[in-house]
Amino acid sequence: MGEKRLKFNSKTVHGGQQPDKAYGSVMPPIYQTSTYAQSTPGGHRGYAYSRSANPTRTALENSLASIENGNYGLAFGSGLAAIDAVIKLLSPGDEVVSINDIYGGSYRLFKQIFEKFGIRFHFIGMQDAEKIEGSINDKTRLIWVETPTNPMMNVIDIKAAAQLAKKYDLLLAVDNTFATPYLQTPLDLGADIVMHSATKYLGGHSDVVVGALVVKDKNLADKLYFIQNASGAVCGPMDSFLVLRGIKTLHVRMQRHCENGKAIAEYLTNNPKIEKVYWPGFEDHPNHDVAKSQMTDFGGMISFVPKGSSYEDAVKIVERLKVFTLAESLGGVESLAGHPASMTHASIPKEEREKSGVVDALIRLSVGIEDVDDLIADLEQAIG
Ligand code: PLP
Repeated sequence: MGEKRLKFNSKTVHGGQQPDKAYGSVMPPIYQTSTYAQSTPGGHRGYAYSRSANPTRTALENSLASIENGNYGLAFGSGLAAIDAVIKLLSPGDEVVSINDIYGGSYRLFKQIFEKFGIRFHFIGMQDAEKIEGSINDKTRLIWVETPTNPMMNVIDIKAAAQLAKKYDLLLAVDNTFATPYLQTPLDLGADIVMHSATKYLGGHSDVVVGALVVKDKNLADKLYFIQNASGAVCGPMDSFLVLRGIKTLHVRMQRHCENGKAIAEYLTNNPKIEKVYWPGFEDHPNHDVAKSQMTDFGGMISFVPKGSSYEDAVKIVERLKVFTLAESLGGVESLAGHPASMTHASIPKEEREKSGVVDALIRLSVGIEDVDDLIADLEQAIG
C-alpha cells in the first residue's frame, strides 16, 4: 500500500522506513560513522560526511516527514537547534510575530541571541486572530506559534494563523511539541513549518535530546537543509535511532497520556484546594472549540494553581511528590512535575511571564503512562 495512504498508527511504525539494504535488518542500523569510503573523488553512495547526511538520521527524517504529513524532515541536535535553523532563514531588519506564552528557551534564543543580529520579535497573545493581524507590518516575515502553549495550555487556531500568513506572504511555523502529530498535524492546517523538541513525546523515554523540522515545500526544505549543513547542529546516529524507536510507539503512548491526563484534570478541578486548572479538554476552556476542531484529543499536559499559594507553597508541593518526578522536560513515559517560575520559564522576566499567566504558584504536570490511581494518590498527598 502507498505510504501516503497508511493511517497514522501505521505510519508511526512503517512511515518512510524500509528494511536495511545490506542485511535486511528491520530496524535501521546505527551507522556510527563520520565518513564514508569513496571509489573515486565524489564517488559515494549518497553519503559523504555525517554532518551532511547519515543513514540513521535519514531514516528518522523520513519517519518525521511521514507522521507529520510533510515531504521533508530534518533532525537536529536539540529542539532549540531546530528553532535556530528556522530563524536563520531571516535577515537583519526582519520581524517575527511570536506567541507570548512561549517555551522559555525559545524566548531566550529570540531575545538574547537573534535580537543582537537585528531581528525583532513581537510577543503577543494569539487566541484572537485579529491580534495577530494587528502585529503584522511590512517587515514581518514569520509567525511563530506554539499550541497548546507551554505552560498555560492556550490553544491557537492554526488555520486562522495560516490564512493570515498566506494573506501577507509570511511563513507560519508551529511548535508541535506538546500536541504531537497524534493530536494535530499543522501542515494539513496550512502551516509551512512544523517544529518539535523530539526530546519530548516523539522520543518519549527521557533518554535523548533531539529537534526536528518538517515541511512540504521543496524550496523551503532546500533552504533549511543548507542551514542544517552549514551551521552543523545535527543529531547523532544513536540519538536518531532512539527517536525513531520512540516514534514507533507514539500512538500507543499518546492514547494513555490522554486518558490519564483527562482523569487528572478532572481530579484537580474537583479538588477544593485547587484554584485553577489549565487543560484544553474542559468545555469552559476559552479555546475549547478550536481545540476540538484541530485536535483529536487533549493530551497529557496540565497546569494548575493551588488556592492561596505562594511561590514557596508551590515549591513545597512539587517537592512532596513521589510518583511524579520533579524535573525539567515533559512527554516521557514517566510523570513529571515542574514549577515554571523557577524552572522552564525562569529565563523570562517575572513581569513578562506574569502577563501571560505564569504566576509564581503555577505547577505544570506532564502526565505519564503509569496507573492513574497511583498518580492521583500522589497528588492528593502532596497537595495535602
Ligand atoms: N519547544 C517546547 C514547547 C519545549 O517544551 C522545549 C523544551 O522544553 C523546546 C521547544 C526546546 O527543545 P530542546 O530542549 O529539545 O532544545
